[in-house]
Amino acid sequence: MTHFASTAAQLDACRRCAMPILVALDEGIVVRVDLLPLASIGAQVEALAAGIPTYARLHDGQLAYRCSTRLSDPRMTERVHARHACTTRRTA
Ligand SMILES: [Zn+2]
Repeated sequence: MTHFASTAAQLDACRRCAMPILVALDEGIVVRVDLLPLASIGAQVEALAAGIPTYARLHDGQLAYRCSTRLSDPRMTERVHARHACTTRRTA
């Protein structure tokens, strides 16, 4: 059975907009999320409705994708972060 690596989130800065973000591997995929967690369940719903993936920051610091079967998992209802989406365009 193959296991893909997951790592604890590390503080970083977005290369394009310089905003502070968290970066981690989630099952072998690089994930970049906003540093601040979503403030409420309403904000989580808004993110999902807008098509923005959300990730839970687990107790070991790893970021876990909140697919539809994980939304009610009690380990994934706190410290929910939205995938980072740049709002600043890169200048040439
Ligand atoms: Zn950015």
